[in-house]
Amino acid sequence: MIEELLSANKNFMAKKTPVVSKYPRLRLAILTCMDARLVELVEPALGLARGDAKVIKNAGNILDQGALRSLVVAVYLLGVGEIIVIGHRDCGMVGVDVQALRQKMLARGVPEGAIAELNLVEWIGTFADETENVRRVVMQIRNSPLIPRDVKIHGLMMDPDTGCVEVVNQNQ
Ligand SMILES: [Zn+2]
Repeated sequence: MIEELLSANKNFMAKKTPVVSKYPRLRLAILTCMDARLVELVEPALGLARGDAKVIKNAGNILDQGALRSLVVAVYLLGVGEIIVIGHRDCGMVGVDVQALRQKMLARGVPEGAIAELNLVEWIGTFADETENVRRVVMQIRNSPLIPRDVKIHGLMMDPDTGCVEVVNQNQ
């Protein structure tokens, strides 16, 4: 697999990529899901181009410590003044069987203690509905003492097949 990517990179280098600033042109950060269907979908569906926004991704666009730390960097070091949480229909994080996941990890040799540190039930067990999750994450960011009040926070839901969005929260 990696060979294919390296070969693609050689071809890619044949054309010139314009240099853009690391400071997002729209002063925007997006927190969205790692779902493969959102690759090359989220940005064009919202009219975003390279250099326009910081994009943070994880499984289920949740506000874990990693996402929060990235938002802190985006706000204080990269000039972000607006955050959009983008969830999507048919998210793989809904309806995950926590016990089945645990069993799979044990079967692959992961120690019990390492699995316990993931807090599977608290992390995945609470993910019941994509829209509810977006609402919750927007509230968590809004209520975080690390994110200043003047930062605007919105929530959107995206259809992973068409890119169509609906507004869940606007400027909370
Ligand atoms: Zn997802």
